[in-house]
Amino acid sequence: MINLIDLSGLSKFVKRFDKEISGLASVVVLNPNLLLIDKYWMLNNISKPSFTEISSEALHKFFLEKIKKNEDVSNIRCWWHTHGRMSAFFSSWDLNTIEEFPDGTDWLLSVVFGNHNSVEARLDMFKPLRVEVPVRVVGRFLEKEYNVIDRVTALDVSWWKEGSLFKAIDGKGGD
Ligand SMILES: [Zn+2]
Repeated sequence: MINLIDLSGLSKFVKRFDKEISGLASVVVLNPNLLLIDKYWMLNNISKPSFTEISSEALHKFFLEKIKKNEDVSNIRCWWHTHGRMSAFFSSWDLNTIEEFPDGTDWLLSVVFGNHNSVEARLDMFKPLRVEVPVRVVGRFLEKEYNVIDRVTALDVSWWKEGSLFKAIDGKGGD
């Protein structure tokens, strides 16, 4: 099972809106079973009910601007959106959005936030195989206040100690 922790504050941010919003986020693969969301961007703010997909125009514009500024976009692999007053689930529109994500993405994490603090996540791999995997949202994802160290220790990750996070991210693993 792949687990996901939000270190970006996204889960807190989305609570400010009762309408549907969506955007992207960057993802750190801490180890093959643990993903972190570390930064997020909001791409639309559309009040029309039931509109949650990101237009490909908005996506292209977003990536183009980042690339023009020489920013690394390789970690921007998360599409998130909210369902306003509905529960969190992947609708057929959402699944379409995932399928139509721009070419060149070999995997994509998708997160949907619904009412009553509901949240669902999934990971789709497009290359070399087409694989769909449910992702478990763990830690203190939905709490108002959090702290990186608390969150990681809350997972009972045995190798974790203060200061080791970035070493692990460098690909050396933590085991
Ligand atoms: Zn949706």
